[in-house]
Amino acid sequence: MAGHDTPMMRQYRSIKNSLAEDTVLFYRLGDFYEMFFEDARVTAEALDITLTKRNKMPMCGIPYHQLEPYLAKMMRAGYKVAICEQVEDPADAKGIVRREVTRVVTPGTLIEEHVLEAARNNYLAGLARHGATYGMALLDLSTGEFWIEETDRAEWMRDALLQVAPAECILPEEQEEALRPLLGGLDAGLVSCQEDWIFEPDVAIDTLTRHFRVQTLDGFGCGACSAGLQAAGGVLYYVTRTLRRDSAHVRGLRVRNPEEYLLLDESTIANLDLLPRRPPGRSAADPNLLQVLDATRTAMGARLLRAWLLRPLRGLDAIRARHDAVEALVRDRSALAGLRDLLGGVKDLERLLTRLGGGGANARDALGLGRSLERIGPLREALAPFDAPLPRELAEAARPLPELTKRILEAIEEEPPVLVREGGIIRKGVHPELDDLREAATEGRRWLAEFQAAEQERTGIKSLKVRHNKVFGYYIEITKSNLASAPDHYIRKQTLVNAERFITPELKEYENKILGAQDRAKDLEYELFQDIRRAIVEETAAIQETASAVAALDVLSTLAERALSLRYTRPEMDDGGAIRIDDGRHPIIEQMPESDRFVPNDTVLDRTENQVLIITGPNMAGKSTYIRQVALIAILAQMGSFVPAARAKLGVVDRVFTRVGASDDLARGRSTFMVEMQETANILNNATAHSLVILDEIGRGTSTFDGISIAWAVAEHLHNHPEVKAKTLFATHYHELTDLAVTLPGVKNYCVMVRESGDKIVFLRKIAPGAADKSYGIQVARLAGLPARVIERAGEILANLEDGEYEEDRQPALARRRPRKGKDHPDQLALF
Ligand code: ADP
Repeated sequence: MAGHDTPMMRQYRSIKNSLAEDTVLFYRLGDFYEMFFEDARVTAEALDITLTKRNKMPMCGIPYHQLEPYLAKMMRAGYKVAICEQVEDPADAKGIVRREVTRVVTPGTLIEEHVLEAARNNYLAGLARHGATYGMALLDLSTGEFWIEETDRAEWMRDALLQVAPAECILPEEQEEALRPLLGGLDAGLVSCQEDWIFEPDVAIDTLTRHFRVQTLDGFGCGACSAGLQAAGGVLYYVTRTLRRDSAHVRGLRVRNPEEYLLLDESTIANLDLLPRRPPGRSAADPNLLQVLDATRTAMGARLLRAWLLRPLRGLDAIRARHDAVEALVRDRSALAGLRDLLGGVKDLERLLTRLGGGGANARDALGLGRSLERIGPLREALAPFDAPLPRELAEAARPLPELTKRILEAIEEEPPVLVREGGIIRKGVHPELDDLREAATEGRRWLAEFQAAEQERTGIKSLKVRHNKVFGYYIEITKSNLASAPDHYIRKQTLVNAERFITPELKEYENKILGAQDRAKDLEYELFQDIRRAIVEETAAIQETASAVAALDVLSTLAERALSLRYTRPEMDDGGAIRIDDGRHPIIEQMPESDRFVPNDTVLDRTENQVLIITGPNMAGKSTYIRQVALIAILAQMGSFVPAARAKLGVVDRVFTRVGASDDLARGRSTFMVEMQETANILNNATAHSLVILDEIGRGTSTFDGISIAWAVAEHLHNHPEVKAKTLFATHYHELTDLAVTLPGVKNYCVMVRESGDKIVFLRKIAPGAADKSYGIQVARLAGLPARVIERAGEILANLEDGEYEEDRQPALARRRPRKGKDHPDQLALF
């Protein structure tokens, strides 16, 4: 490796040149992976290891057995790494050892246990466009999950992509420009363009049909798909060919229809605190809904819970089926506890299976899988008491595989070693030849002990020892002081400072027997382990099916457990447009240890008299909490959960929109009035009569008059527009908005009650019909110690302002319409 132009360097260069530019090459050299040039620089920095130079050539290296943790670091830093191995034994090599890239590891194709987060899927996303249709394919190589989605709405695709937060994304080169806008929130480093042809319809379908060994893809229900299949073909090609990864465990492709799900956009997920978010500089995540719900017992269940939460359902039947299941589970507490105990012993079947399929697994993985499968039979029995279709279907779908289980558990030792080639894996009595070999080895060791005793006796040297090392094999060691008594037939092998080492022909003969038997036993154990591994892989389809059934059971039983511990009730679902909640609670706030006892509140929303609720009240009274709890209850219900309320009757909603005013969002430091207005525009353009809209203090990012005017017009639009008419909860400081209720029949005013007690304000947290006390701000100012004269004057000014508020006909002044200039074209705004 000394010069730049050695044969090895030439080999290095040709391999490096065959890789994509963004891929770092880990080049195997004996017991190390070495990196050179620019690769060395970025690796040294990412891994925090020493960068050295030889002949001005930057290089660094890592020991081969440390690959996994270092790979993890490279992935976290966002790199792609090609692993180049020596593919022939250096001893056999004529000239330079042959090397090949055996796999390329990228953030989106990780399968390594320690690198992955157990409770999250790790997706590689592919995008493609066909005509007006956008297609997205998502592959989690670590679990084998693979699905596609299509839509004509770019905005939908963008939100869906953000929500999935793929670890990596690929697109066809020539569509980059068209697809870029969808990638807004993704880190650009995770996105790469791939050659167009792998996404072409014919090629993509060919890639997929070959992989699944089918004539057509109709069996997967994607006969009518276009862009989605192109994306899927591209993804599969990229994984198997470009990255040379094993994907035999990817057994199916599912189509998800966006229309079946409640789409939650990024800001709604954030505003409602659905997922853990870690504020900068803090170690723990803020309280969030996932955390409140997650009592899953398996990694598979944890991943699915997250997916359910982010993808609530819209179909009434599907929602009710989940509620039926949860209700059945809730009814029998002790059976539920038994079920959850059993689930607790089920390992991550999906990822175990992937590792076993890829060959990187060890006997512990196989045993873990066996012990998990052992629970499936009892799990099915434990489901018997629950009378609902979904648990019954899931019990059917979970396959116990008794023969495979028996084979694994009978063959593999209780605590097998991590390494698979060093023996110690297979139990006694499994294979007669293995037992014989072990017997021979034991026999040999016994002979050695006897030999040592006999030689001690014969020579009279008490300290004579038979030892073993890698270089000489077995030898006799005699200390210097006893050398004189060493027999003549001992053959001298090595001289140390205080001892001599000898061998005898007899010793060597036994050595061959012992070592030969040991080696053959290890090889045989490895073979037997591989047989078991293959037997497991053969059941891939059944085990994957079992895994998804277990995941769903885990989530359902978790929702049941949560319903019991958190006093949630089953919501009554229908297709009507109304929402009626008695004693509703905020699921996250009510769990916060520092909060006061949570005060429940009622909600009535419908498409007639209660379409827009204006909630007023002073700062910190509980407005935001109240409006969010309604959205959270809707989402919980549609994901299949019970809800924090005494009673709830809920019409299914198609979207939940949230908009939080600039001042409330300042902490996150990104909100400007422009963003606020963009988000508001998004709501007004996309909300339907089935949507639920949560507006928290909109219009505050600008001057008061501007703000009130915009807020007023937005509320009017939501109320009046024949197609929008979304159910709306509007929390605001602007008590002027309460005048809306005077003119618009579907608007109702509510306020959060407070009481003054001495010089303290007591927040009652109770929502009551009516508008908030207007002078409240001045009262607070007085309590805060503003001079009496200032308070008095403020009261006067306020009265002046309020005087002008109503017209002579008692209609609120703000509601007045001015004659438009272009009367014939009411759409052409009077602005111009
Ligand atoms: P606002 O939006 O009116 O400024 P928030 O909704 O942010 O007020 O509520 C302020 C705090 O009051 C919350 O963080 C919570 O701790 C508490 N709170 C709100 N609603 C309730 C309630 N119903 N019961 C108990 N505490 C509540």
